[in-house]
Amino acid sequence: MKWILAALLALWSSVAMAAPPIRVMILDGASAAAYHDWKLGTQIMKRELEETGLFEVTVVSVPSSDGDFSNTHPNFAKYQVVVLNYDSQDWPAPLKSEFETYMKNGGGLVVVHGADNAFPDWAAFNEMTGVGGWRKRDAPAGPKWYYQNGKLTSDTAPGPAGMHGKRKPFRLVARAPQHPILRGLPPEWTHATDELYTRLRGPGKNMTVLATAYADPANRGTGFDEPMLMALTWGKGRIFHTTMGHDALALSCVGFITTFQRGAEWAATGRVTQKVPKNFPTADSVSYRADLAAMDPAQADGVLTTLPK
Ligand code: ZN
Repeated sequence: MKWILAALLALWSSVAMAAPPIRVMILDGASAAAYHDWKLGTQIMKRELEETGLFEVTVVSVPSSDGDFSNTHPNFAKYQVVVLNYDSQDWPAPLKSEFETYMKNGGGLVVVHGADNAFPDWAAFNEMTGVGGWRKRDAPAGPKWYYQNGKLTSDTAPGPAGMHGKRKPFRLVARAPQHPILRGLPPEWTHATDELYTRLRGPGKNMTVLATAYADPANRGTGFDEPMLMALTWGKGRIFHTTMGHDALALSCVGFITTFQRGAEWAATGRVTQKVPKNFPTADSVSYRADLAAMDPAQADGVLTTLPK
């Protein structure tokens, strides 16, 4: 009996080992301005996903709003998750409809930093991201969302959406520590030098805020705890939204990498099987991957490794 069990176990583990990789599309091709180097960002994120051994990554570059979309058919259904590293004003209606169908049927989406600036007038997209900024978003986009006194709060008062102060490290506070993306992470950690997005507006439907960061008024902040990591659902689809990742240095933060890798797995499968790395940042000091940051030499200088006083 014992050998049958052993044989079955061996068979099972070999099947488990041979689990097919999660098919990821990194969708890029446009950004609002040169300050988001999307080509470099895609290279860094592709490497981060591939390093886990879990993902098979294809990069699909599409035009900006004013481009020619006649040959743009990304075949979303082939992929379990789309990582959006793209920011433009709008898409042709058929392409938006293809993407909505993909999400409705259970697709996965990861929204990184400036990608939540995209598509201000596409209602379904704004439901997927929960909150977004810039591109003339104001009260009609939805209320501002933030944590105040430990509770998720919304404010419908009009005003522009999206702002950030100088790039600095800042502390993340977990708000849903039992969510699969955060399980096992410390309750607080310091994110490497990045833009801290504030005053984001959106429908905020089916949105779980996973982590927030305090936006210091001394650095153009709101004095509120701003949403930094979100998990959402749309139709049968799952969305992981991180507002972080402005440049190579921000994308190299071990906190960014870990939540990005786990968020991509969760968006694709609803589960997270990855361990938290030993060099995960602490509450008071940053941890970043010098090899990734060095992919942009301009960013490697002047790295702050602790929270500024
Ligand atoms: Zn940015």
